[in-house]
Amino acid sequence: MKIIKNMDIEMPDEIGRDFLKKLMSGRLNPYLEKMLEENRGACIETLRPAALYEFFSIDKIVDSTVYFKSGNIFNGPNISRILKGSEIAVIFMFTLGKEIDDLIKKVRESGDTLGTIIMDSVTTEMLYVVGDHIGRIIKKNISIPGGYASTCPYSPGQYKWTIEEQRELFDMVDGSKIGIALNQSYLMIPFKSVSGVYGFGPRDKIDKTRVACDLCPRRESCIGRR
Ligand code: SF4
Repeated sequence: MKIIKNMDIEMPDEIGRDFLKKLMSGRLNPYLEKMLEENRGACIETLRPAALYEFFSIDKIVDSTVYFKSGNIFNGPNISRILKGSEIAVIFMFTLGKEIDDLIKKVRESGDTLGTIIMDSVTTEMLYVVGDHIGRIIKKNISIPGGYASTCPYSPGQYKWTIEEQRELFDMVDGSKIGIALNQSYLMIPFKSVSGVYGFGPRDKIDKTRVACDLCPRRESCIGRR
């Protein structure tokens, strides 16, 4: 298992703006601009990203079930679709860290709803940035034959892959190595964490879904769609 801590990631200067603008129907007044700057700074100061990933050989896929040579099993029509044609799956997890979770909790408990909304916007975009960064690291470090390529990442809880499947991912990789735990509702703690899977296989055989959002019925109205 590969563990990455003390990640040096450059956060875009405008991180959080796009998501917040969508939340605020497209316009940020001077007061919101000031609040965004202040809360963005606080988020960047407490950001402690960490990640881990591991490779697993796929044994077979039968209907909506993916069987791994490790004995692990995924169930779901969309994860089996995404991994169809892949020979290897990379299970990954990453987090923005406990400190940022505690900061947002403190702001929320202080009754500062706007501050909480702004921090959620900033950290949502931070998860995209860290996720793309980890994706690049995985694709750079996986030793695969020429002519192989990767699928888009897919996560438990996304369309037609139930959140309960988090249990299998946590059985395959130990999230506690980077401080991530799973609560009884299969939500990750720290909350600002993501887990998922990439498939790797011959370019002409792997699934060509561009992003998970393309399979999601909420994409038309969802402000978070990619
Ligand atoms: S469209 Fe929205 S809800 Fe659907 S997968 Fe994308 S971000 Fe998630």
